[in-house]
Amino acid sequence: MIETKRFPCPSCGAPLRFRKGQMRCDYCQRVEPLALPSTSITYRPLQNHLPNWEDPNFLCASCGASFQAKPFLHAGECPYCQSPLVAPSQNGYELPYAIPFALDEGEALARLRRRIGSLWFAPNDFKRFFKQYKKLRPFYYPAWIYRFRVRASYTGQRGIDYVEYRRIYTNRGYREVPEIRTRWYLVHGVVDLGFEDIYAFSYTQTPMLARRLLYRPQEVVPFDERLLAGQEGYEFDTSTKQGFTAAQGVVEGALRQAIRRDIGGDRQIISSIQRHFYDVEYSGLYLPLFWGSVEYRGKIYPFFVNGQTGEVIGERPYSWLKILLAVASTLAFIVALLWLLEYLGYIEIEMPAHLLY
Ligand SMILES: [Zn+2]
Ligand SMILES: [Zn+2]
Repeated sequence: MIETKRFPCPSCGAPLRFRKGQMRCDYCQRVEPLALPSTSITYRPLQNHLPNWEDPNFLCASCGASFQAKPFLHAGECPYCQSPLVAPSQNGYELPYAIPFALDEGEALARLRRRIGSLWFAPNDFKRFFKQYKKLRPFYYPAWIYRFRVRASYTGQRGIDYVEYRRIYTNRGYREVPEIRTRWYLVHGVVDLGFEDIYAFSYTQTPMLARRLLYRPQEVVPFDERLLAGQEGYEFDTSTKQGFTAAQGVVEGALRQAIRRDIGGDRQIISSIQRHFYDVEYSGLYLPLFWGSVEYRGKIYPFFVNGQTGEVIGERPYSWLKILLAVASTLAFIVALLWLLEYLGYIEIEMPAHLLY
């Protein structure tokens, strides 16, 4: 049995929830500031931390009920009394940092409505739905974060463009037309790059869409259990080594870009890359987000608001009628414009002869 923790209100004893820099009491509305000093991440040489979650039985610190928790649950609500609870880390390694929520639900909702309102081609009733929408839930998802260097040996080709003139014969003689050709040279080389603050979500149930939210890990605070009070939080279920594989994928684009720059010339072909990662260091942090969803015509549309920056990401339906109307009016505009240009004598539209009969 895992004993959970609650943070009681000093005035009335009801549990407090963390909301945007404050611990708030739902019951008596008492507010206590929770000011955590912002800091920067201290990285340590890579060590493999494995997930270890054994006991699914949680004991509620408010009502004493026991209940089965979802795997890797770190913080949530008691299903019986709805008290916010925080469980101690079962993995045996608590992530040292967190990005605190910089928005509360109200502000996140305002961001969401503004974003939905500005959507192009969204059905009107879908937009209208968000005017009354009120349900956003705060989540904390764990992530590993890395600093490392990579030495990449590559082989490839450098393309140098040159111009060749080609004669085109017509019934009035010929014209010389310039054409771009490329000469290719075999190349090989090494680039050496350093990366830092590359993070990868370390809880496998993190929604794919939410993984695309961009965070600024330069603004963290030391982890404090109170930050989890009133949010749904999870521990990592992905080892630091697995997380590092994901982080390698994050920098692949930047690596290929550096190789292209190194190859130079006008065009580049990369044939092979051998990557050697070294000086790998890691740390861990919790990332804040709001999660909501709407059901529209039998389909669930999830959406997420970044708890740090307010960035909104989501799936949305398209109104095919609106798109059709836009396409039709654009076509009508082009036809009218062509007709006008021809009428004014700027262009001459020639129809193939057989189309005229
Ligand atoms: Zn209170
Ligand atoms: Zn309870």
